[in-house]
Amino acid sequence: MLAVAALATGCQKQTDEVDGAFYTWDNRVVHCAVEADSKTGNDIVSIEAGLDRARDRGEVFEILIHQPGVSIPWTDFERLLAGVRDRGLAWVTYEDMARGIPPVGGVSLQYDGTWIVPWLDSRALLQNYGARVTIFVTRYTRLTDGERAQIRRFADEGGHDVEAHAVNHLRGPFYVEEHGLDAYLDNEVQPSIDALRADGYEVVSFAYPFGDRTDEIDRAVGKRVPLLRSLSITRDVVSSPCPH
Ligand SMILES: [Zn+2]
Repeated sequence: MLAVAALATGCQKQTDEVDGAFYTWDNRVVHCAVEADSKTGNDIVSIEAGLDRARDRGEVFEILIHQPGVSIPWTDFERLLAGVRDRGLAWVTYEDMARGIPPVGGVSLQYDGTWIVPWLDSRALLQNYGARVTIFVTRYTRLTDGERAQIRRFADEGGHDVEAHAVNHLRGPFYVEEHGLDAYLDNEVQPSIDALRADGYEVVSFAYPFGDRTDEIDRAVGKRVPLLRSLSITRDVVSSPCPH
């Protein structure tokens, strides 16, 4: 019975055991985040264990949320923000890491997708805690001028960092298998970087949709931007795309 229960729930690690989600200021190219959305099973207690590790070891804990207030309740979202403040952790963006700021214990809070409304809804809370977010925007070329302006204002007001997350949010390794590496770079990666740069964003990183990556893709995309982001899956039942 015990074995069955363990299988059914998987073997989920507490986030402080997920080495790949902690940036140790080693100048690595491929970064990984853990997801804190409720459905991932990484509850706020597990996230707080990760915050403790970041404080104790001077590392940057990378946390991805898709829709604050929707994919994670506001109470947990605020508890996360307060946990960062109470531990004296810094807010670190991808721009900060690419620039090579002095090593500090911190949190890289990340949004990804095209969830503009929940992102804007989080403004007041982010402001209360001085939280700066790295926003990986996908399907940017399909946004209206008004939506782009909303992202611009949100980023400018909060000191947030807007970064690339592919044109169509497709799984890179499958795309490469079907169409080749050059097509992936030309159709999915580079235009997502160019579109943001055309609107004045610096763009120092590319986040893989679903965290899906290979070493070959890393090498190629790593020539376009200095930092890449994958995901650290905390369940042992699937192998994590995070290389660490
Ligand atoms: Zn995504």
